[in-house]
Amino acid sequence: MKYDIVIGLEVHIELSTEKKLFCGCKNEFTHEPNKNVCPVCLGLPGSLPVINEQAIEYFVKLAKALECEISNFSKFDRKHYFYPDMPKNYQISQYDLPLAKGGKLLLPNFNKYVFLKRIHLEEDTGKSIHIGGDNLKEAKYTLLNYNRAGVPLVEIVTEPVIYSVEEAIEFLELLRLTALYLGISDVKMEEGSLRCDANISLKPKNSNQLGTKVEIKNINSFKFLAKALNYEIERQSQLLDKGIEIIQETRGWDEKTQSTYSMRTKEEAHDYRYFPEPDLLPLKISQQYIQAIQIPLTPSQYYQKYISLNLNEEEIMFLLENQQINNLFNNLLEYTKGNTNVNAKSIVKFLKTDFAYLYNNNQIKWEEIKINNIINYISLVENKSIDVLNTKKYLPEILHKEMNLTEFLKSKNLIIEEDHNLIEKLIDEVISRNPQAVEDYLNGKEKALGFLVGQAMKELKGKAKPNTVSELIVNKLQAFIKN
Ligand SMILES: [Zn+2]
Repeated sequence: MKYDIVIGLEVHIELSTEKKLFCGCKNEFTHEPNKNVCPVCLGLPGSLPVINEQAIEYFVKLAKALECEISNFSKFDRKHYFYPDMPKNYQISQYDLPLAKGGKLLLPNFNKYVFLKRIHLEEDTGKSIHIGGDNLKEAKYTLLNYNRAGVPLVEIVTEPVIYSVEEAIEFLELLRLTALYLGISDVKMEEGSLRCDANISLKPKNSNQLGTKVEIKNINSFKFLAKALNYEIERQSQLLDKGIEIIQETRGWDEKTQSTYSMRTKEEAHDYRYFPEPDLLPLKISQQYIQAIQIPLTPSQYYQKYISLNLNEEEIMFLLENQQINNLFNNLLEYTKGNTNVNAKSIVKFLKTDFAYLYNNNQIKWEEIKINNIINYISLVENKSIDVLNTKKYLPEILHKEMNLTEFLKSKNLIIEEDHNLIEKLIDEVISRNPQAVEDYLNGKEKALGFLVGQAMKELKGKAKPNTVSELIVNKLQAFIKN
């Protein structure tokens, strides 16, 4: 590759407030079309918007998690353009005084920060449903649903500091998880509560000058983001190879043809004729208000912690993907302090297998979970002190019931209690019955040991740990060598 890739992302996140941003309509659009509407969000003459405080609170949470500089003074502006899904023919957005500036998000896998330009609050538009075609131009007719018009939307704009498709994906993934952990959005890309546009340009390797950027819109899944960016990298590098200039434009991703297509040449900010929204007062947020809003640890911070615990990417993503499981993991980890048998990896192993099985079958009662039982169970499994296979059916009980786990398992005959005299006697028998295997082992064939251990385990019927048996056999065979 002769070129450096430079990507900037513009992400929209719908806030899951109870009400819309400037009116009392429910923020919910699964209902029948045009049910959650009123004169304000329909833009009827004489109606006046009022800012929803919950949207500000959610915004501040996100801005704090992204380490932005939150403005004590900001204002809303009208952004003018015509589209049928926007009843007012302007969108209330923020122009020169956004609610927050700067900020950053850590990409732990790349050990770098993606810096942010700004994040602001605006209202969403309604939804067009095209019938008989994919867009307004091709459709036979178009239906409009204004339930979404006026829903609070946060726009996050990064600096052009993302240098690969993988970095772009990790940024979006962590931003999604951040909003999810804050409880401010359901961030479902396929349903539109998380949307992403990407600016991408190429420049000759190590050049200081940025190339002409192309904006890609209509990306509604992580898969499409990767595909669209890869397609543009290929398209632009081919043009540059031929000495053809890149046109600054907005392109769309077409899943059918697996390619981007030109939508329009890029409009400039002044085309929107921004001016301050005269129906809303400027927004003043006090420092005390900002300080009083608490946020939990962010997924990026967890990610860093997990890297230091030697968890791999797959294990980390498994934990981060589900906030409840992630919290449980941290509670378990806290409880293990001092228990040398149980570590981060063995806890994840338990969560990914036994626990995930019960979770997927709706057998977890979260409020009844017994942390100490789980730790004791993992410890016994790691120690190979129990008959794991036959213990599984008691797991729902073990997870939720107050009990002495060892006593409980003893009563079910699931603890492996080793009778050393019996073990030695049986091992001696196995050795004398298998002279060939013994000879093979003494001649350096390690495999023969596995065979002997297997034979002994069969005789012992689960009443010994494989480690104990293996150790004893090796000791006995080494004695042969010495003699
Ligand atoms: Zn309304």
